[in-house]
Amino acid sequence: MIDPDGLIVDVVTIQCRAVIRRDVVARVGIGAALVGDVEVVDCSADVDLVVEAVAEGMAASGTVSARWTGPCRRCLTRVEGTIGVEIREIFEAEPTEGETWPITDERIDLAPAVREAVLLALPLAPLCEESCRGPEPDRFPTGAPDDRRPSGDSRWAILDGLSFDDPRRPD
Ligand SMILES: [Zn+2]
Repeated sequence: MIDPDGLIVDVVTIQCRAVIRRDVVARVGIGAALVGDVEVVDCSADVDLVVEAVAEGMAASGTVSARWTGPCRRCLTRVEGTIGVEIREIFEAEPTEGETWPITDERIDLAPAVREAVLLALPLAPLCEESCRGPEPDRFPTGAPDDRRPSGDSRWAILDGLSFDDPRRPD
């Protein structure tokens, strides 16, 4: 279940030290999130964060993870995976653009920070497997590891005496 407000944390009780820290463990919506053809599944991420008072204001630290899906860059097979990143974000009343996040009306919204962390961690060009050679490796060599038999391997020596008619070979 996705809690739309799950990333808004009321910081008053933390700031006045009634509570030292607050754990935020939830699956939360981060909106449509995609980079190229790779997108976050269900527009959601799992967070396991601790929000606590620090000198600057508030800090949120812990892990953010999300599932993604997208096409293999070589064969276009649909690939799925999971990313997980450690974050430590600072929230302050007067944030520094691009570095810290705002505290607004005594609250912090973790969603933009989580969303940014997920977007940065998405794979830019996923592969179905490291050795994927694409749909037509002869026409479109990918530079992937070659799965043809290695030369000089004695286990294949018996095949050296055989010849094959390769229908693709021009006469
Ligand atoms: Zn592939």
